[in-house]
Amino acid sequence: MKILFYDTKPYDTEAFDAVIGDFPDITIDYLKTDISEKTATLAKGYDAVCLFVASDVSTRVVELLSACGVKLILLRCAGFNNVDLEAASRCSITVMRVPGYAPEAVAEHAMALAFAVNRHLHKAYIRVRENNFSLSGLTGFNFAGKTAGIIGTGKIGAAMCRACRGLGMKVIAYDKYENPALESIVEYVPFEQLLKQSDLISLHCPLTEETYHLIDIEAIERMKDGVILVNTSRGALIATEDLIRGIRQHKFSGVGLDVYEEEDENVFENREDDILSSSVTARLLSFPNVIVTSHQGFLTKEALEAISRTTLENAEGFMKGTADRANLVTL
Ligand code: NAD
Repeated sequence: MKILFYDTKPYDTEAFDAVIGDFPDITIDYLKTDISEKTATLAKGYDAVCLFVASDVSTRVVELLSACGVKLILLRCAGFNNVDLEAASRCSITVMRVPGYAPEAVAEHAMALAFAVNRHLHKAYIRVRENNFSLSGLTGFNFAGKTAGIIGTGKIGAAMCRACRGLGMKVIAYDKYENPALESIVEYVPFEQLLKQSDLISLHCPLTEETYHLIDIEAIERMKDGVILVNTSRGALIATEDLIRGIRQHKFSGVGLDVYEEEDENVFENREDDILSSSVTARLLSFPNVIVTSHQGFLTKEALEAISRTTLENAEGFMKGTADRANLVTL
């Protein structure tokens, strides 16, 4: 099987090259450019394309891939909200993903963001580098003894529940389906109650029609004053304009975002010389109690190794007709 990789970064090449030897029937060509209507036709002659989280796999792109003879879209990520699944099904293209790779990688990044905004590490780091050893404005609060509210308790949310519990927090959670593995450490509560009682709220549910703008101004106004909000899941779970309003109303001690609504043009690109066309990201970055990272929750050695191995196992399974059904993305 010949696979064309789009949007390849050095850490992708390193991780896939390290495991490709175990898959003798697969060859990979790497492209730096991401997939688009202009670049989809480069896939002519390939059996599969491998794409990442910000790739725009629109109807037209799927149709172009189909015309090139591509039969398989391999997502080297968990989320698939960027793929037109209806078009893929119509064009008989199989879509596969990596649903659960090192969930602790993302949970630990969520925790890192929570710690960083709580203890103002982003400001402390800059101050000390400038020989400013003042502590004014750096007061945080102890997580121990406080309440963590986890929205979505699948693989990553469960890891976050365990991490919060390990810090001595009370853990409450909201999910459509309770996770029996968390029975002894988590109390499931209605969404409203989670908003009202949590000192730290961390989002770990997928982006769906139902969860789009789950955190809007009504939800924000129901939260405790001084709450910390962390989103490592998908940007559109939060209505950004409402978030900005909430920040201006001094609702939050801190906000940590690994994902945000406008990220698609930014993620993994160096845009330091660009004049950005919208002010939303710039406004978010202007607040002293907000930390934004660029969708790096997955970026640990363990997660990259798991992603590369599972992606190639998905390709092999597709070829042999033994694909792991849990990794298939269907309508
Ligand atoms: P998962 O499928 O194991 O868990 C998702 C949980 O959300 C499930 O328990 C599900 O029941 C729950 N859920 C679904 N709809 C809900 C709703 N309407 N309200 C409340 N809960 C709901 O997924 P996961 O592996 O834990 O990943 C969670 C999300 O993390 C992914 O969807 C993806 O968007 C994001 N993610 C981010 C990164 C990153 O680098 N920042 C990396 C991987 C995944």
